[in-house]
Amino acid sequence: MSDAKHWIKPEIQALKAYSVADAAGMIKLDAMESPYTWPASLLQEWLMVLTRAELNRYPDPHAVKLKNQIRETIGIAEKYDILLGNGSDEIIQLLILSVQGAQRSVLAPAPSFVMYELVAKMASMNFIGVDLLPSLQLNMPAMLQEIKTHQPALIFLAHPNNPTGQIYPEADLRAILQSAEGLVVIDEAYAPFTSVNALPLLDEFNNLVVLRTFSKMGLAGLRLGYLVGRTEWLNEFEKLRLPYNINTLTQLSVEFALQNYAAFIDQTKKMCAQREYLTEQLRGLNGFQVWSSEANFILVKSLQESATEIFQRLKQKNICVKNCQGAHPLLDNCLRFSVGTESENKALLSGIK
Ligand SMILES: *Cc1c(COP(=O)(O)O)cnc(C)c1O
Repeated sequence: MSDAKHWIKPEIQALKAYSVADAAGMIKLDAMESPYTWPASLLQEWLMVLTRAELNRYPDPHAVKLKNQIRETIGIAEKYDILLGNGSDEIIQLLILSVQGAQRSVLAPAPSFVMYELVAKMASMNFIGVDLLPSLQLNMPAMLQEIKTHQPALIFLAHPNNPTGQIYPEADLRAILQSAEGLVVIDEAYAPFTSVNALPLLDEFNNLVVLRTFSKMGLAGLRLGYLVGRTEWLNEFEKLRLPYNINTLTQLSVEFALQNYAAFIDQTKKMCAQREYLTEQLRGLNGFQVWSSEANFILVKSLQESATEIFQRLKQKNICVKNCQGAHPLLDNCLRFSVGTESENKALLSGIK
């Protein structure tokens, strides 16, 4: 027996690493990135900001200026704390580590963002996935029953959901918050693309925290996510956060980006308009069931051909999308298209035709 087989925990050995498709040189519509880079008008100014970086020093461990900028730009009340993560992925890991324990579980609708299950299993926790309805809405009787049975330490609700693009009625969110004894995380990774917003619910529910990220609105490469919630929770999570998790270049760059937020809002609006265009065009093709989306991607079910064949053919045409086949029974024959630029979306449409 090799040393690794002996010493690495069996739960870890049983995991499959999160895999990312190699899409070098392709039209990349698989990972919900913004198709836009820094606006040309900001590029020079941003590079000047970077010359201020003192890379010989550790970053500000509390990223005070950046947090203040986030608070001001997003409009987060003083009574709530903000915790920063190296991507919201890191915050998901930190939340799970903070409640980890034998007999404790993590619950999320299924299908949803894969990281919840992956990290729960890394932490040797019980993961409960509650299947959505075929409409991709929450199965509320099943959700409430599972919550009652397991009283999970953590519930993750991606809202809008990934990979479905769906939002749920506020009454469903409230019913879950009311019946959960543990902490509920509403993951608003796609907040820039929807009008739903869970921050006001913080006033009513003391078992809620709200997770956000700057990744999907154009800053994926900088890795910055944030959690908003009450001090009683965030003080505890702070203890687990590694002191310099947000590097100097990220602190300076996101601060600058938020000082120029209007440019990013502009890009976000373009993406939403393209989402509507792409949805309409895909519906016109008649080969797909096309779900409406509140995010920057569209989920479709192929009604005639196999999704895998379409995926392969698009790949040959240099277009990388997400093949959801095999991820969950509700996603049989499904593909997920991130919204690209107008010309990328046209290339996708003609590739499909
Ligand atoms: C993309 C995504 C994340 C991860 O975002 P990062 O901040 O880039 O780590 C978290 N939650 C959901 C639902 C996502 O789709």
